[in-house]
Amino acid sequence: SFKKSLGQNFLVDSNVLHNIVSCAAITKDTGVIEVGPGIGALTEHLARQAGKVVAFEIDDRLLPVLEDTMSPYPNVTVIHQDVLKADIHQVIEEQFADYEDIVVVANLPYYITTPIIMKFLMEKARVSQLVIMMQKEVADRITAVPSTKAYGSLSIAVQYYMDAEVSMIVPKTVFIPQPNVESAVLSLTRREEPHAPVADEDFLFTVTQGSFLHRRKTLWNNLQSSLPEGQEKKELIQQAFVQSGIDPVRRGETLSIPEFIKLANALYPHFGKLK
Ligand code: SAM
Repeated sequence: SFKKSLGQNFLVDSNVLHNIVSCAAITKDTGVIEVGPGIGALTEHLARQAGKVVAFEIDDRLLPVLEDTMSPYPNVTVIHQDVLKADIHQVIEEQFADYEDIVVVANLPYYITTPIIMKFLMEKARVSQLVIMMQKEVADRITAVPSTKAYGSLSIAVQYYMDAEVSMIVPKTVFIPQPNVESAVLSLTRREEPHAPVADEDFLFTVTQGSFLHRRKTLWNNLQSSLPEGQEKKELIQQAFVQSGIDPVRRGETLSIPEFIKLANALYPHFGKLK
C-alpha cells in the first residue's frame, strides 16, 4: 500500500528516469544526494552513473525492498531519516569528503518540495545543482520572471541563490499511483555571481515577503503594514525609496531581484534590527 501522507508516487517509466539523470551533470566524480528513493527506481539509474549516492528515506517499510534493489550497487548508502531533520553539512562532510562536485536529485513528495529546496539553499549546503521532480505549478512559480502572475517571494528566494529552469514536463501517466497534477523537472544551478551585495539575507526575504503581502497593493502600502514598528516609520520608508530610486507606487511583482536588493539594503539600517 502507498502512503499518501508521505507523497508516494513512484516513477515507472525508464525513459523519464533516464532523462532526469541526464538533466544532472553526473559522472563518476559526482556525489549524489537523493531525497526519497522509495523502492529505488531512480536510485539505480543514479548509482550506475555517479561515484556515490547517499539517499534519505523516511519510510521504514520501504527499507527492506530498497536494500534488495540496491544490493548490486555498493556505492549507494541509505540513510533512514527525515531529510528536513538531517544535519546536511555533517552528512556531506562524512559521506562526500572526496567529492568536489555534489548534486541533489529527487522525485519529491509535493507537499514538502519547497521546505526541502529551501533547506539546501538557506543552509548553504555544498551542492552545485539540484534536479527535482515537482508539481509543475510550483516549478512555474520558482522560475517566474517579474510582472507575471506566478512571480512572487518563492521565485525570488530561489533565484537569489540559483539559476532556475524547467528541464522537462512530465505527464501523470509515468507514476504509480498517478498524481492529480502535472509534474515538471526543475533544474537549479548555483549562480556564478551574486545579483548584488546584500546587507542581510534574512532581512531581504522579510522585505520581499512583506512586498507581496497583498498582491494588488503598492510597495508603499505593503511595507507600511509589514515592516516592524519604530519611530518615524513613514519618513524612514520614504527615505529608503528615494535612496534606492524605487517608485513606492509600484507593486512588488514588478521588481527584479537587484531592485529588491537595493530597496532592502536602503531599509536595513532603519528596520533590520527591529522586531
Ligand atoms: N524516488 C522514488 C520514485 O521516483 O519512484 C519515490 C518518490 S516518492 C514521490 C517520494 C519518496 O520520498 C517516498 O519514498 C517517501 O517515503 C519519501 N519521503 C517523504 N518525505 C520524506 C522526508 N521528509 N525525508 C526523506 N524521504 C521522504
